Amino acid sequence: MQLLYGFLLAIIIAYLAYRTHSLNRSGAIAATVVGTIVFGIGGWQWAILLLTFFITSSGLSRMFKKRKQGLDEKFSKGYERDAGQVFGNGGLATAFVLVHALCPESNIGWVGFAAALAAVNADTWATELGVLNPHPPRLIHNFKQVEKGTSGGISIIGTLASLTGSALIGILAASLHPTTDSAKIFLIVTLAGLAGSLFDSLLGATVQTMYYCPTDKKETEKHPLHTCGTATVHLRGWKWLDNDWVNFACGAFGVVVALGLGML
Ligand SMILES: [Zn+2]
Repeated sequence: MQLLYGFLLAIIIAYLAYRTHSLNRSGAIAATVVGTIVFGIGGWQWAILLLTFFITSSGLSRMFKKRKQGLDEKFSKGYERDAGQVFGNGGLATAFVLVHALCPESNIGWVGFAAALAAVNADTWATELGVLNPHPPRLIHNFKQVEKGTSGGISIIGTLASLTGSALIGILAASLHPTTDSAKIFLIVTLAGLAGSLFDSLLGATVQTMYYCPTDKKETEKHPLHTCGTATVHLRGWKWLDNDWVNFACGAFGVVVALGLGML
């Protein structure tokens, strides 16, 4: 029965998100799958965490859309999220709902779920709010100054946003989880989220695939065609490692850090 309610709630939210252009068609289908598992198998505590990520990240993308005009072409996708983005951001967290269903006695399901979401939430907040930094960002691995919106660039405001986005999931994870030490859960999830987001920047600065538009002489994530219609050429990075896989890796790194801290 809970699965049916989960499915109904998921489909309503996915439909609203589709109608308001937060998700495209494939994104709405993917979100229905993710939502059904998270609401239907996890329950309301799990739903709150997922919705916090979903609502704040869609909201921030929307709020800062104007400010990012001109930067948007640097990102491979607009603010309408597709299936690749939904699974890249929420797929790993969803897998931990299933881990919890298999071992309900263990904390691993909940902590892994929260850490994966904290990481992608931290990353999204940093990306969306980082553009408010008055100075251009610097690359995470060599501190070279780069244009706003460049993958792998970090800034003070972006890093604070990342920490805040992570801590929000950390607070919810700690307060919605009964019995265990809440301070410990809060610290583990928050640190894991921040670490995942920094790992995302490191991949973005080094091995994430990046293209180049010969017409505009600009670096871009867009492929095969740039916004201007020109075919983009591969510039650097591993061709298979696109933004969706980097988001997945961001969550995965967060989970590894959380489980590592949990063992200490
Ligand atoms: Zn171009």
